[in-house]
Amino acid sequence: VDFEHCGFPEALNRNLKASGYEVPTPIQMQMIPVGLLGRDVLASADTGSGKTAAFLLPVILRALSQSKSPSGLVLTPTRELAIQIERQAKELMSGLPCLRTALLVGGLPAPPQRHRLRQRIQVIIATPGRLLDIIKQRSVELGSIKIVVVDEADTMLKMGFQQQVLDVLEQLPHDCQTVLASATIPASVEQLACQLLRDPVAITA
Ligand code: AMP
Repeated sequence: VDFEHCGFPEALNRNLKASGYEVPTPIQMQMIPVGLLGRDVLASADTGSGKTAAFLLPVILRALSQSKSPSGLVLTPTRELAIQIERQAKELMSGLPCLRTALLVGGLPAPPQRHRLRQRIQVIIATPGRLLDIIKQRSVELGSIKIVVVDEADTMLKMGFQQQVLDVLEQLPHDCQTVLASATIPASVEQLACQLLRDPVAITA
């Protein structure tokens, strides 16, 4: 199996090839079809498994069918990780018409981040604290989000972000698809999954 047989738009296939992605990794093979079906996912996937593209591809395909308002949200525990995810998203979205990202992270000035939200963007990549600030300032509208990814859920909990993550997710539509990715699945992550996910598919790399 390779990406060419997934039925993706031609530009996306080109971008995958340009990034050196020819064959999906095991986690991608499992997560992408389930993600495209709209199911909730609990993925046990470490860095290096290809998990980022595994959750970004369904996010990008969703964005292609809803380009007028934000449809995808990726929450990560750290600024560095958010920057990496945005870089990969931009690579995969290159040449796809009208697809744009917004990076909302702490440690960088907020005004340019809020300004970016006034342009037409489809995919938001954020850390929970900064996103909550921007929500409080009413500078972002999350009512159109269709898919949310909580990446590195175990690290989120370790860093004490559980309540912030819950506060963000409370702002999303009730029928939003939710993907939880975590390197390890300790009891605390399992409990979070029970709270957040509806009839999830569990996937292990
Ligand atoms: P991740 O686990 O998402 O941090 O990805 C680990 C690395 O593998 C990143 O540098 C990706 O660009 C790369 N990668 C992801 N999927 C594939 C693939 N299907 N083929 C080759 N490289 C990939």
